[in-house]
Amino acid sequence: MKYTSTRSKIKPINSAEAILRGLSDDGGLFVPEKIPKVTLDEIGALQTLSYEQRAAKILGKFLTDYTDDELGECSELAYNFFDVPARIPVAILIQDPKNPIAPVGEMELFHGPTSAFKDVALQMLPHLMRMALKKVGETKEILILVATSGDTGKAALAGFADVPQTKVMVFYPDGGVSKIQRLQMVTQRGDNVNVTAVRGNFDDCQNGVKKIFGDAKIRDELDKLGVKLSSANSINWGRLVPQIVYYFAGYVELIKSNQIKLGDKINISVPTGNFGNILAAYYAMRMGLPVRKLICASNMNDVLTEFFRTGVYNRNRPFHKTITPSMDILISSNLERLLYHETNGDIKQVARYMSELNTLGKYKIDRKLKERLDKIFHAEAVTEDETRDYIKRIYDSFKYVLDTHSAVAVAALSKYRGKTKDFAPVLSAGTASPYKFTNAVLTALGQQVDGVDDLKQLHMLNVTTNLPVPKNLGALSTAEILHGDVCDKDEMPERVIKFAAK
Ligand SMILES: *Cc1c(COP(=O)(O)O)cnc(C)c1O
Repeated sequence: MKYTSTRSKIKPINSAEAILRGLSDDGGLFVPEKIPKVTLDEIGALQTLSYEQRAAKILGKFLTDYTDDELGECSELAYNFFDVPARIPVAILIQDPKNPIAPVGEMELFHGPTSAFKDVALQMLPHLMRMALKKVGETKEILILVATSGDTGKAALAGFADVPQTKVMVFYPDGGVSKIQRLQMVTQRGDNVNVTAVRGNFDDCQNGVKKIFGDAKIRDELDKLGVKLSSANSINWGRLVPQIVYYFAGYVELIKSNQIKLGDKINISVPTGNFGNILAAYYAMRMGLPVRKLICASNMNDVLTEFFRTGVYNRNRPFHKTITPSMDILISSNLERLLYHETNGDIKQVARYMSELNTLGKYKIDRKLKERLDKIFHAEAVTEDETRDYIKRIYDSFKYVLDTHSAVAVAALSKYRGKTKDFAPVLSAGTASPYKFTNAVLTALGQQVDGVDDLKQLHMLNVTTNLPVPKNLGALSTAEILHGDVCDKDEMPERVIKFAAK
């Protein structure tokens, strides 16, 4: 299996190289030349396997330059720190499939070390990268630079901590992340990690990191230190491919809990921001997972809902800060991969859309493409009130606690069912533990949280719902602070070099 770019004809590369390079030189994203197939028999055979074994099988379809043993090792190491044996369990919330308010299977993607779904990929990526370095004969150390507004930073730190031949450095806005997010980062252990607060906002952090990536002088200096810069952002193929696995695993769990038979079609609902998670579901469907519709759930930043309904992607719109911050995104980068596949690899067309997005902030897809997307996707946008309402309804009906993002998927599913009367069994993506968004969840459940400290809110949610606090969050109040560095944005380059030299 070889990889090519979404925007121009390049010499096809192996997956190891795609994972190390992240982005193609033409600005495009790496995509597999062909989407591999999985037969129903192969899906059925996953039933008796562990999550790690299922992961190795599905990864093997795409990462053909890795051996089965290597992929097995990556999977074992990646999911070792998940706090349940099933790794990604599926909670069955309903026995009556005609009840429109509930999904069938709530896929819990948040049992990793940071209690959110980015762990599923960021626990795997460092091992894929480490092995890729060997495959391409790279002897330099790679330094992963991350600018974070909160969650991705911790997930990257936890993933790369103590992985050989790698270092990870995270910049976050001083005073600009929640108390829990800050504690999660500054208590991170590992000899190869650094966390630095920047006097400024998230944009300052991100611009600072971008400048460092673009600065040839810094690259030279790092080169002399035997260090190469890299990023772990969500357009890297190595972050996408581990996400395809759980749609197969979730489907198999629905079979095992007698909700469906092998071959039955399901719907999948995904709370969407950068379009990575739902794109993984799309790949699973194209590979042969029996799926009828993918439900793309947005919050009030409804650029994708408008896109799927009208065929116009328009980022020129107000930006809303919501109770689902991980979906507060106006440019869904991974959509580019979908456009590539659904135009049968028409790189000229994709490059034109992306250039229009860059210059005009919008583009309109042609009718043929729009009709193809209509067959696969249904999009719904969900308000803040609806999100809180579904947290309350699901809790009242099932004593199951959704986080805000997961609730957006459930609310969108309910709208879809109301409109279409399609009551096929569903996998709904649960992307974060409710303990990551205690303020909004407690408010939705009718609790008064004004002025209550973040750490106290953990306790409060536990008392209210009886749901155990995830260990990693419960331990924060007593964990040792290991990273207290603060710098000005102009100092970021020297901090990077100092850490690289360590
Ligand atoms: C990142 C994230 C999302 C959005 O996923 P995309 O792959 O960016 O579409 C949804 N929920 C949570 C909790 C997230 O962290």
